[in-house]
Amino acid sequence: SVPVALFKAGQVALDLANQIAAGEVVQRPASVVKELLENAIDAKSKTIKLIVKDAGKTLIQVVDDGRGMSITDARMAFERHATSKIKANEDLFNLTTKGFRGEALASIVAVSQIELNTAVADNPIGTLIKIEGSKITSQENSVTPKGTSIAVKNLFYNTPARRNFLKSDGVELKHIIDEFQRVALPHPDINFRMYHNGSEVFNLIKDSFKRRIIQIFGNKTEGKLVSLGEKTSILKLSGFVYKPEFARKHKGEQFFFVNNRFIKSSYFHHAIMGAFEGLLREKTQPGYFVNFEVDPKTIDINIHPTKTEIKFEDEQIIYTVLKSAVKHSLGQYNIAPSLDFST
Ligand code: ADP
Ligand code: MG
Repeated sequence: SVPVALFKAGQVALDLANQIAAGEVVQRPASVVKELLENAIDAKSKTIKLIVKDAGKTLIQVVDDGRGMSITDARMAFERHATSKIKANEDLFNLTTKGFRGEALASIVAVSQIELNTAVADNPIGTLIKIEGSKITSQENSVTPKGTSIAVKNLFYNTPARRNFLKSDGVELKHIIDEFQRVALPHPDINFRMYHNGSEVFNLIKDSFKRRIIQIFGNKTEGKLVSLGEKTSILKLSGFVYKPEFARKHKGEQFFFVNNRFIKSSYFHHAIMGAFEGLLREKTQPGYFVNFEVDPKTIDINIHPTKTEIKFEDEQIIYTVLKSAVKHSLGQYNIAPSLDFST
């Protein structure tokens, strides 16, 4: 038999490995929010509720009405590389889901205490599982409507250095709201609600993309938007840019989505700045909400753990299409002449 001390050392090493791996995916409460929301979307939910306490430091809970998990799936979900989304190698090159690595829940559970309550359709009995230190500590039947609730408690409770590294509640909450918006914006067909410390922060009702923008950023946004549209053999582009007079000194609302996934791209930002050339006051930037629809086979999402930077096969063509579409829309609205540079 294995000596106890050695066994313990092995366990410590394993816990440590899991915690280090978690660091890639889980940097702060907002990272957990992103992963849980994406899982709820992948489960085909129609209504998703995010409940946060103390800026996510004590509780992050996502409740969805998606397909739910069987008992076996629920127990498996927290194993590393347990994903139900990739069945064959080719799937990796033709992704239609947000998740595919099976890393997120395994990483989150290594640094938090979790309560999972889930049920599949046509089965009145669901499963309630509690996990701590990556181990299932209790499992029972529950009466649950179809769908999943995952509550992540006391993030980084077992990694004090990382817990201490967290910023103020104000800063962490801002990050959470950013992630919430990045996920909710490209999914206007899903109802999203968010609560912080018992108060409602967002209540987003299923509607058009334009209405979703207005629901998030306020009624005054409506008059700022100019719509974009372009279709070529390799992509469909849609969305909105702000009229030049609403450009601001600081980065405002700037969003690129590829197949409904938020991405960062200084390259495409540059294309938009190029299209606005001559229309902006010095050192200001326009807001934009741009959707690209491309064949999943022409992009590589796998280059960055949080999947916010991706590689495009046809990057230069997309740049050109984007720049000309924005120019065209700005020209069509014919707003350039009315610009007043004196204020
Ligand atoms: P990935 O999303 O990359 O597959 P995750 O660690 O995020 O990996 O989730 C692991 C698995 O748990 C998923 O593949 C899915 O089968 C299941 N799962 C997670 N969240 C949900 C949910 N909200 N509804 C149904 N199944 C879920
Ligand atoms: Mg996932």
